[in-house]
Amino acid sequence: MSNQTDERVNPILDVQGLRKYFSSKKTFGKSTNKQVKAVDDVSFQIFKGETMGLVGESGCGKSTTGRSMLRIIEPSSGKVMYENQDILKLSSKQFRRVKQEMQMVFQDPYSSLNPRKRIGDTLKEPLIIHSIGNRKEYTDRVMDILNKVGLRTDHFYRYPHEFSGGQRQRIGLARALVANPKVLILDEPVSALDVSIQSQIINLLEELQEEFGLTFLFIAHDMSVVRHISDRIGVMYLGKMMEEAPTDRLFANPLHPYTQALLSAVPIAKVGVKKERIRLKGEIPSPLNPPSGCIFHTRCPFAMDICKASAPEKRNMGNGHTVACHLYNDRC
Ligand code: SF4
Repeated sequence: MSNQTDERVNPILDVQGLRKYFSSKKTFGKSTNKQVKAVDDVSFQIFKGETMGLVGESGCGKSTTGRSMLRIIEPSSGKVMYENQDILKLSSKQFRRVKQEMQMVFQDPYSSLNPRKRIGDTLKEPLIIHSIGNRKEYTDRVMDILNKVGLRTDHFYRYPHEFSGGQRQRIGLARALVANPKVLILDEPVSALDVSIQSQIINLLEELQEEFGLTFLFIAHDMSVVRHISDRIGVMYLGKMMEEAPTDRLFANPLHPYTQALLSAVPIAKVGVKKERIRLKGEIPSPLNPPSGCIFHTRCPFAMDICKASAPEKRNMGNGHTVACHLYNDRC
């Protein structure tokens, strides 16, 4: 977790009303004109040097949010302001510089590594694409970055299949870092790893953030992991942001019933302390046919009549804490 949360003059990233709708022309062979609202009017800011966590169950839109921000998937609408320019409006040539400064780290780096290429050659690619340095400097830079992520210089000459899962994620980090970025979007970077390896990678991320002054968007479904690394956390459900708060505040006083349910499932480390798990009724609704009003009302233990009829607005509860829930209509 960064110590730089007081650097809050201007956000390095300001996501405004981001939407990604996919059209679904056919469902089970029948024609439909429905849209899947994978990301629906999501807004948040990230400040320099901090880690913003993005959590929610599988399919909530958190990964699509991260990919839309980097235009790996083109968003349907909204703005992604990076250093005061809307990167969704940049030409592909202008966007190249931004791509150098904002890199993505994936859950499974192996699938994106060319099995026939030595790791050193793969890691040189971003330097060649972004014209950073010359041939001799490429090798030096790659050797240096291998060292920074805890790999050895002889790993330069090895092939992807020769590495363990944890080492492959270190390679994924090296590839993201080699072009000297400012922002990393980390999409479930430790979800596929054993718990002991997870903590090594999390510690490494924290060290690298400190050393290079990096800003992170950390996407994950594991609340314990997100709590450990994040300065602030946003909670998503069915494509929408439900609640956002500084990490300590969110864990001490979760306001949204969905956040309360997620946190009730996080084990407590203290002996003899038990907490009651809130079990949500039903499954996550289909994004093809989301509920009316508050999209959480079909599973919410506190749902009221208004919840079916009207979608709650995001409300500012003070100290960086926002929530979208009718329970707080008259409390702000
Ligand atoms: Fe529950 Fe209503 Fe709040 Fe939605 S708006 S989370 S249904 S109480």
